[in-house]
Amino acid sequence: MSTPPRIDPEGLRCALFGFYDRDGRDLPWRRESDPYRIWVSEVMLQQTRVETAEPYYRRWMERFPTLDDLAEASRDEVLKVWEGLGYYSRARRIHDGAHMVRERFGGEIPSTAQALRELPGVGEYTAGAVASIAFGEVIPAIDGNARRVLARLFDLADPGLAELRAIMEELIDRERPGDFNQAVMELGATICTPRAPTCAACPLNSVCRARAAGTQLDRPVTKSRGKTPLREFGVAVVLDPESRLLMRRRPEEGLLGGLWEFPNTSIRPGEPSAQAARRAAAEAGAHRLESSRSAAAGPLQPVRHTFSHFRAIYRPHAFNGVPVSLPESCRWIEPPEASGLAMPVAQRKILSNWGWAARKKILA
Ligand code: SF4
Repeated sequence: MSTPPRIDPEGLRCALFGFYDRDGRDLPWRRESDPYRIWVSEVMLQQTRVETAEPYYRRWMERFPTLDDLAEASRDEVLKVWEGLGYYSRARRIHDGAHMVRERFGGEIPSTAQALRELPGVGEYTAGAVASIAFGEVIPAIDGNARRVLARLFDLADPGLAELRAIMEELIDRERPGDFNQAVMELGATICTPRAPTCAACPLNSVCRARAAGTQLDRPVTKSRGKTPLREFGVAVVLDPESRLLMRRRPEEGLLGGLWEFPNTSIRPGEPSAQAARRAAAEAGAHRLESSRSAAAGPLQPVRHTFSHFRAIYRPHAFNGVPVSLPESCRWIEPPEASGLAMPVAQRKILSNWGWAARKKILA
């Protein structure tokens, strides 16, 4: 068996910075030293690709250019700017974090990873990234890309976080810790990709132990996630006699927290979707429901959406209804106002399909 290549930290840093300084992508947050902007970018990039996050980042910075602008915005405004990016708890936590920075830290974002972790939603990775990039703290930031690069470089099947942290602490550049963290992640995002690493173009190929052993595609070992379950929902699109739509705001915590939606509920086994939709409408405070004329032409178009842990099919039905007493979370809303609410992507599609049907005078 051949000896694995020796990894010299100094040589590795030199090769990595050569790559990063020459080929690193020119991204808006990389031109920043403002810790608020770096914090927002790091939260947006969690579980989200750069290409998806970039337009959101630009819109966010146009609307909330400073931490004070964010702290003074309403929750609805914040969720609206985040709409479509998913994992909405991230937006709520940055918003809560902006309040905390003003109230507890005198308006200055904390400068160490340890203090940053006091902010809502800031875990070890985000704290390390912000502290190293914005404040030059010599501390690793290990995301999924960095984990893959390190596992391959050292030919490790299933490294734990403590092991990776120890490796990074040894390798990290003392003068440019933020750039070093970003360079490792950049290599993982652009060259050492999960299924097709381009080893021939990699600046570390001469020292990569997985490449020498031919085990790149098995490092790190990935666990099968199994099949994602399917859930179906009956959705009630209810119009009252004043042509207002019944909308419900989801609870602050949990999936899609704080966003607006049409009343909906899980379809029980064997239950017709229209019946589930009627139940949802009744729970939301609409009574004496009559199917609108769209029902004669069939229900509104179903909408599919994939969440991280399940796939959803929403089956909307249009009704005319009479308000009785609404729970606090529900409101009758004029359709143009509904367009301005922060809504999940699937609900936005239902609203748009309904609007299209209404314009075609399918609906009563
Ligand atoms: S040589 Fe290949 S497997 Fe090793 S770090 Fe570079 S791209 Fe990844």
